[in-house]
Amino acid sequence: MRLTVKLQHFRSLAVAVVLALALPPAARAEADVSLWDGSRAMGHIEAQLRFTPRSMDMPGHQKTIDYIKAELAKSGITAVTTQNFVYRGNGKSLALFNVIARLNPENPRRVIVATHYDSIVRAYRDPKNPQGPMPGANNSASGVALLLETARVLSASPKPPVGIDLIFFDGEEGPKSLGAGDPDWHPLGSPHFVEHLKDYYPSGKPERAVDFDMVCKKDILLMPEAFSVKTAPAEVKKFWELGAAIAPKAFSTKITYPISDDHTALNEAGIPSFLVIDFEYEPYFNTSEDTLDKCSAESLEAVGRTLLRYLYLP
Ligand SMILES: [Zn+2]
Repeated sequence: MRLTVKLQHFRSLAVAVVLALALPPAARAEADVSLWDGSRAMGHIEAQLRFTPRSMDMPGHQKTIDYIKAELAKSGITAVTTQNFVYRGNGKSLALFNVIARLNPENPRRVIVATHYDSIVRAYRDPKNPQGPMPGANNSASGVALLLETARVLSASPKPPVGIDLIFFDGEEGPKSLGAGDPDWHPLGSPHFVEHLKDYYPSGKPERAVDFDMVCKKDILLMPEAFSVKTAPAEVKKFWELGAAIAPKAFSTKITYPISDDHTALNEAGIPSFLVIDFEYEPYFNTSEDTLDKCSAESLEAVGRTLLRYLYLP
């Protein structure tokens, strides 16, 4: 009896070895990048513009949060949390909400894909109407659109080798929601997040992060940002190489000036992080002309499909 069991065990083991030798090596998981749809992403921008103004303390701010959560739920992403906190300064307090969606939460390897969803409170750079509302199609609705469409495609694709944390930061435009138009500008959401990094990563930091801002402009041209090249050179190289293969006209290897954004706090926390941005947006930057017609599905696809490839690198 005993011996038979052992023999049988040996036989099945032998069969398994033969099978393993006969099989080709396991194929690497990949996503079909053609699923990433620029027109869907344009739809996400259009939807957010209906909530303008979307700056902190405005009804459109909460509507944007609700929209993000509803769209994540449509993609079947259930591990969504909100990191709530209060910023106090200049005699007022502001309620802030970072929205964090975790894909494949069981995977110990974590990669952050970030953007900000808060918007400028008014079109302060507009030559005609600097007190008027700021639509913010490119800054900031485009980054949210990019993450939401990426979430949809990822949920319908094989699991990538890394677990992905989609983070929609609040308060990137600073305490006055005026971006760099505020002399005291500094992001609020990402520094708070890194202060509480252990809440989300109790057993080790995420291995890297990529942050998106202003990614829908027609005929987009993405250049590596100077801080990112210093802090995450290998990741920038990989991303730009993949981008050049997918959309050669959208990616230049010429390094641009340093830009502060949510990747700054992530880098300061020791997470190699890089920014993907086309900051050359005159004469529309932070004016009432930052509207949907300045964006294109092709530009969004160039960035989104590159991101998808990047997330499936081994
Ligand atoms: Zn921005």
